[in-house]
Order: sequence, then C-alpha cells, then structure tokens
Amino acid sequence: MTGITLRNVTKAYGRVEVIPPLDLDIEDGEFVVFVGPSGCGKSTLLRMMAGLEDVSSGQIFIGAQDATELPPSKRRLAMVFQSYALYPHMSVRRNISFPLRMAKMDREATNERVEKAAETLNLSDYLDRRPGQLSGGQRQRVAIGRAIVREPEAFLFDEPLSNLDAALRVDMRLEIARLHEELKTTMIYVTHDQVEAMTLAEKIVVLRDGRIEQVGSPLELYRNPQNRFVAEFIGSPKMNILEARFAEPFGAAAIGIRSEHLDLSREAGLWQGRVGVSEHLGSDTYVHVRLDGAPEPVTVRVPGDIVLAFGDIVHLTPQEGALHRFDREGRRIEVA
Ligand code: ADP
Ligand code: MG
Repeated sequence: MTGITLRNVTKAYGRVEVIPPLDLDIEDGEFVVFVGPSGCGKSTLLRMMAGLEDVSSGQIFIGAQDATELPPSKRRLAMVFQSYALYPHMSVRRNISFPLRMAKMDREATNERVEKAAETLNLSDYLDRRPGQLSGGQRQRVAIGRAIVREPEAFLFDEPLSNLDAALRVDMRLEIARLHEELKTTMIYVTHDQVEAMTLAEKIVVLRDGRIEQVGSPLELYRNPQNRFVAEFIGSPKMNILEARFAEPFGAAAIGIRSEHLDLSREAGLWQGRVGVSEHLGSDTYVHVRLDGAPEPVTVRVPGDIVLAFGDIVHLTPQEGALHRFDREGRRIEVA
C-alpha cells in the first residue's frame, strides 16, 4: 500500500477545463472520500489516478514514483465501478481470478488468493455460481473480490453502491469499512452521497466544479465548514441559513445553524415563528418553523415525545457558540 499525491493536476476536455490546477495528498493507508454534486469531476480525478484518463498537465505520484505517464496496468491500483462489469458467462471464481489469470499467476497461488478474498467477502459458498444467480450486493462483492486478489497499492471506488437499494447500501457501507479495517490498504472512494462520505471517510475531500472546497475529517467539516457550500452540503438535515436582519446583528451576511443547535421554547427566545410541518422519526422530530420575515422555514430537531401542532407559535434561540457566520461571498468569518 502507498500514498498518492496530485501536484497541479488539471483536466480539460477540448477548451473546457473541468479540473483547474489541483493539489492533494492522500496518506498511505488512508480512507479518503471524494464527495460533491454530480458533474463536479470526481470520476475524472479517479480515472486520472488510475491512468484511464490522461492528465492535461501536472503530476501524479504513487508513493515516491512519478506515475503520470505510467499505463494503468503499471500503477498497481484496482478500481471498482458502479456497474459491476462482471463477465456473465463466467463463474464467480473465474470472475474473481480473472486479473490473476491474465497475469499468468500459477494455479495454486491463484486459488489461494481467490479463496481468501471469497472468505473476506462472504462469497465462499457462491464461487461456482454465475453473476446472474447473485443479488446486487453479492455482485458488487464479486467486483470488490476481483480488486482484492490483485493486492493493489490502493483501491479506487467510483460510486460502488449507487445501484443498490437503500438497505443494502447501508450493509455494504459497513462491509467496505470493515474491509478497510482488515486490509488497511489506501482507499479512495467517490460518492455524491454525503451520508456515505460522513460514515466511511477518515478524510473527506469536498469538490465543486473541479475545485476542492475543503479537506478534513467528517467532524471537522461538520463543525467547521469553511464556506456556505460545505456547510450546506455536509450534514442531514441541511444546515439552516438565515440572511439579512437575522445575520446583521452577528456581523455577517448569512448565519448558519444546525437543527440540533436551536433551542425551542413556547414562552420566549431570540426569534419568533410558527410551526409548520413536523417529520416524526420516532426518537427525534424535525419541526419546520416559519420565522417571521424569513423566506424559508428552518428545521429544528426536538425529542420525539414533544407535541407541537401546526400553527403553534414558538420561539427559537441558537445555542451558545453554535452559530456559523458567512460573508457575502459565502466564506466563513472566524470569530475571535
Ligand atoms: P462526477 O463523477 O463528479 O459526476 P465527472 O468527472 O464524470 O463528474 O465529470 C466532470 C465534468 O467533466 C462534467 O462536466 C462532465 O460533463 C465533463 N466530462 C466528463 N467526461 C467527459 C468527456 N469524455 N468529454 C467531455 N466532457 C467530459
Ligand atoms: Mg462520476
């Protein structure tokens, strides 16, 4: 396993620059997630690391080696795609062993690696089946198995769970986290789903229009978003943003406040509003409150046993130190 470094990497398709100069350091053994909206350049970055796409300029280092001009087969990285790209006519065993057979590895060593990977992925009982006889989650595990047997320096995952239904995605997420614990190999994982990013990553890279908006641990991004984009992108429900008369007393163009950082009272508070829709999750309820003079309702998290009726008048107060301040350009204002 090894780290990966991007130095001044750019990508243009014709005249359109989709990745402006970008620098990034991925540490040896780290689990890094690239997250951002569709079209922000996540796959392009991953494909450039894998060598499936040329860089327009800049350098990519794998470990200490300049890999910028290396063909994909020499980079010793394994990529797993959203579409599992399995061979339908081959058994699971032959699908997993495929890269080793291509590399002409001897039979005994091949079988050993395949069986070990199958065990890690709970596929031992399915080695003689064909992909068509497997569930979506099992198929994706076969694709991961095919990557594991190559014993790569790093794994590159491009939205590997996006074809699975919600419940299975949660299971597979845990499997991938466990896999990283077990293999300790560098993993770079691309997703548009911030929940996936938050739950899997040691380090999240938030991308927007080919640029890095912020790099940090899940909790760093959650607690200290450096701009409005990151503030609103990371976290569910979305951070509440208030402008104009709400923000001015705090010396900001906009203030952001998370749903769990608003205290709700029937008697008194900083802002007054009316209860709108409530989303009952059981343990918690997300109450949408229309503040007088705010264009959008804010979301407040309250314990599930609190009963509020549509139209009730309530008062909200942000908790001490929990406010985020942003300037006109959406940059964070640090408060001394
Ligand atoms: P993501 O994976 O984040 O959804 P992509 O990396 O696939 O985004 O795409 C980034 C940008 O590059 C998009 O605007 C996309 O339209 C553009 N793009 C990707 N591949 C090509 C290509 N082969 N030719 C032209 N534009 C492309
Ligand atoms: Mg993509």
